[in-house]
Amino acid sequence: MKKAHTAFVGLGGNIGDRRAALENALAVLADADGITVDACSRLFESAPLGMERQADFVNAVCRVRTTLSPAQLLAELQRMETAAGRVRGGARFGPRALDLDLLLYDRVQCAGATLTLPHPRMAGRRFVLAPLVEIAPEIHIPGQGRAVDLLAAVAGQKCRPLGGVLYSAAAAKKN
Ligand code: ADP
Ligand code: MG
Repeated sequence: MKKAHTAFVGLGGNIGDRRAALENALAVLADADGITVDACSRLFESAPLGMERQADFVNAVCRVRTTLSPAQLLAELQRMETAAGRVRGGARFGPRALDLDLLLYDRVQCAGATLTLPHPRMAGRRFVLAPLVEIAPEIHIPGQGRAVDLLAAVAGQKCRPLGGVLYSAAAAKKN
């Protein structure tokens, strides 16, 4: 068997039934070849950053084990965004049914045309850091510092946990 890697994926959406969109995305992710979802944060509701006149987002972060390379995993995430109705080429930071970001992949640091790791904007986003710290309290973001410390610096951004468990890894274990 190929070596499994640990990656963190950020999920978000602000169109339609946002909770259903994220639940569905997690189910699709858990079902994909070469990917196992082993933890997921609660859902958080956050005010949009970058382009403010749009609906609030719902966000979560999950941890996956994967035999895919970073590029393969990103391609898979982008396929899932498209399948969920996302049209690429719309306004940057604008409304979307589903946004899947590859936040971290082991301790890889890279900056390419289509993939930068760690995700280039994660360290300044409370809606990424808050759910991330929930499932990985000790995590360190390569080149940036401890996620808990970065989180303290963005405490002014609007982001609050919503009730309910999004996903139970135990219930979704693959055979
Ligand atoms: P954001 O998720 O920051 O709101 P978009 O989803 O619109 O912005 O941006 C996606 C673009 O960012 C893609 O074209 C992709 O190639 C690039 N990108 C670079 N690094 C990453 C990464 N780690 N995860 C997801 N997309 C990335
Ligand atoms: Mg994205």
